Amino acid sequence: MKKIICLLILIGLNLSVSAIADTVVYNTKTGKYHSIGCQWAKKCTVNCINIDRKQAKARGGVPCKVCGGY
Ligand SMILES: [Zn+2]
Repeated sequence: MKKIICLLILIGLNLSVSAIADTVVYNTKTGKYHSIGCQWAKKCTVNCINIDRKQAKARGGVPCKVCGGY
């Protein structure tokens, strides 16, 4: 029984980690998206939103040249 609980916790952690990894900072004005840790993402406070990378691409987003959007 304990093993099953451990497994469920591990799966849950993996899911939340991948969800964070797929989140980018998307600039709605320039259409560029950044990794969350990017220096430009931190400077962008007005036009930027946190969205899924897929969504950023679907909106015509272009990866930042500094961080590559990862
Ligand atoms: Zn960037």
